[in-house]
Amino acid sequence: MATRTRYGSGVRVTPKLRHCGQLPVVLPPLTDELLSSWIRRHAIFYGVPPVTMLRHCLSDASAMRAIDLRLTVEQAAPIAHVFRTDATIVRQMSFANVSTGSHRWIAAKSMQFCANCSRQANANGPEPVRRSQLLGWRLTCVQCGSPLIDTDNRSTPPPCAAYGTDAFEGQRLIDDEAERGVRTWAAPTELARLLLMRRDPRTTHLKRSANIRLLGVIVPEIDAVVNSEISLPSPANPILPLWLRPALLAGVSIVERQGPAMLAWLQSKTIGQNRTRFSELATTMLGTPPERATLSLLQHN
Ligand SMILES: [Zn+2]
Repeated sequence: MATRTRYGSGVRVTPKLRHCGQLPVVLPPLTDELLSSWIRRHAIFYGVPPVTMLRHCLSDASAMRAIDLRLTVEQAAPIAHVFRTDATIVRQMSFANVSTGSHRWIAAKSMQFCANCSRQANANGPEPVRRSQLLGWRLTCVQCGSPLIDTDNRSTPPPCAAYGTDAFEGQRLIDDEAERGVRTWAAPTELARLLLMRRDPRTTHLKRSANIRLLGVIVPEIDAVVNSEISLPSPANPILPLWLRPALLAGVSIVERQGPAMLAWLQSKTIGQNRTRFSELATTMLGTPPERATLSLLQHN
């Protein structure tokens, strides 16, 4: 790889690097920096396209996002060599620990930031992207705990401020599952998807009743939002904008606390194909149809 190293306003050409050769200058990664962000910053520093920098490490690599999501142990080693660091550190900068099923919770681009931690970023060069800026279940900064800020600077007050404690518990539940593979009787990420399914329009008198979701029977305030301005995303793409995210996280926490019988009750609020899809998703998650959860509840009463 031909490299040009910039010093001030000038450009000094450095000797060609053989493939996978160690970089003469390595920029220290910032706390929680995403692997692709670190590679991009080096690409700019050396005056080459990002994909060239990536292929300097991995000759057959083509997409930064694939490296962020599915970095293997074998891929981490040459990257660590080139950047003069440890393969474990490289892996921690990626989403390699997140299961494939949870990848739908990782945004394609930065959608939030922490004002506190951003102030600590290097003022020179491009703004680094932190790993937590792509996590679709976070309300607070992974590093300092400060509330995250929407990249779009939307200042609309959340419609469900009263659910704060439940929302933070929902964040913890999904964080445990996605980052550490820890789950309770349910997979919290799957509970969230169930709550985003459409519900029987006859369960509300709202004008846009065809678009209402199961979440509204747990957090009723969300129905008014759907009725007045926006459509919630589908279960296949479950990331909500930051100002609405507390509602979904609170719903996850409340259902998880109530137990499996709550799923049978939620299912009773669906009709048609949605009821079938709900049953399939819940059965896959529980290993048993939600109807049996109702029977179990009745037998205990
Ligand atoms: Zn922070």
